[in-house]
Amino acid sequence: MSNYNIETKCVQGGYTPGNGEPRQIPIIQSTTFKYATSEDMGKLFDLEASGYFYTRLQNPTNDSVAAKICEMEGGTAAMLTSSGQAASFYAVFNIASCGDHVVSSSTIYGGTYNLFAVTMKRMGIDFTFVSPDCSDEELEAAFRPNTKAVFGETIANPALTVLDIERFANAAHKHGVPLIIDNTFATPINCRPFEWGADIVTHSTTKYMDGHGAGVGGCIVDSGKFDWTKYPDKFPGLCTPDDSYHDVTYTERFGLEGAYITKATAQLMRDFGSIQSPQNAFLLNLGLESLHLRVRKHCENGLAVANFLKNDDRITWVTYPNLEGDKYYELAQKYLPNGSCGVVSFGIKGGRKAAESFMKNLKLAAIETHVADARTCCLHPASATHRQMNDEELAAAGVPADLVRFSCGIESADDLIADISQALDNI
Ligand SMILES: *Cc1c(COP(=O)(O)O)cnc(C)c1O
Repeated sequence: MSNYNIETKCVQGGYTPGNGEPRQIPIIQSTTFKYATSEDMGKLFDLEASGYFYTRLQNPTNDSVAAKICEMEGGTAAMLTSSGQAASFYAVFNIASCGDHVVSSSTIYGGTYNLFAVTMKRMGIDFTFVSPDCSDEELEAAFRPNTKAVFGETIANPALTVLDIERFANAAHKHGVPLIIDNTFATPINCRPFEWGADIVTHSTTKYMDGHGAGVGGCIVDSGKFDWTKYPDKFPGLCTPDDSYHDVTYTERFGLEGAYITKATAQLMRDFGSIQSPQNAFLLNLGLESLHLRVRKHCENGLAVANFLKNDDRITWVTYPNLEGDKYYELAQKYLPNGSCGVVSFGIKGGRKAAESFMKNLKLAAIETHVADARTCCLHPASATHRQMNDEELAAAGVPADLVRFSCGIESADDLIADISQALDNI
């Protein structure tokens, strides 16, 4: 599949049926797999033969869908997880443990920020958060001798900042560590971070990839390009024998292409067990089959709504990376020339009160905490997800009290604009 275009990979990647086999990826709804002898199974446990024995570690349905996302991102190995949160946790914890340090962009998904700043901090991993717009000197100063990775989002949810992936990759590589990119909002349709030097990509497949609000899920993809063996002291988990897994040395046995994902599967999935159910993987694959068509429409609608808002005097400000004049327009032209996403943020004249009234007036757009869905959804963080904060705290968090996050679905752009317009009229 590697020489096909992304549209073809969306539809046919990851699974090629043999003669007389099912055309659609079969749902292997089985926890376990049968073997003729204990020796046969022993080889699987020793990672000497590849095959399935227990769905907590691997399942054929999940593997086919992970292989499709791997092809779409241009990676060498991938795994599905039960959620985007699990993907972010595994991606970092696979190479950083107690006493280590990670540099992260400060504009990341709120759930990821909490995972890093609170929960992983409790596990003994320190994070330094830097603005995606920080100077080279500030970025340089964030690194420590025990830094193990750099993390950021291609397009940040909900801030809609665009990360200069090349600049962050160069800084990470200079310090002998990989760049991990959460590519959820851009999807590989609009940006493939490996082409800009990123080493590992994560996804909340719950968003555009599933796209139909049907299943929570996540994915991790490895580019296979980061050479762990150049820094064996930094990455002992990949470069020295794993005594919890028959003394296998992942880089020796599986090469740079397979070491990182095999370790995450054999250790982290074995111990934490955040698997995606095969049923959900099947639903995710249905979403992937039309991802290239849907993302185009999400972007078309996002730009149309952003342009409408920009020219409407009831609106104080609009953020959308592909909108001319946006702070991230230049970076979007470089990394997202075909479009960014369907999410637009804006402020309404009259602040918090006006935003609350606007939300009540919407007829087509539904009030949800969800984003990146086929159906348009809308959130006023100050009265929902961030309601415990006062106006000053909200402003400091980059989520001002008047901010409305509008996630354009794939309906008619004219209908979305008409809904916004009548909701503004009736404030
Ligand atoms: C939603 C989201 C996550 C978390 O994913 P879940 O599937 O909800 O666990 C991570 N990163 C980004 C950018 C997201 O939008």
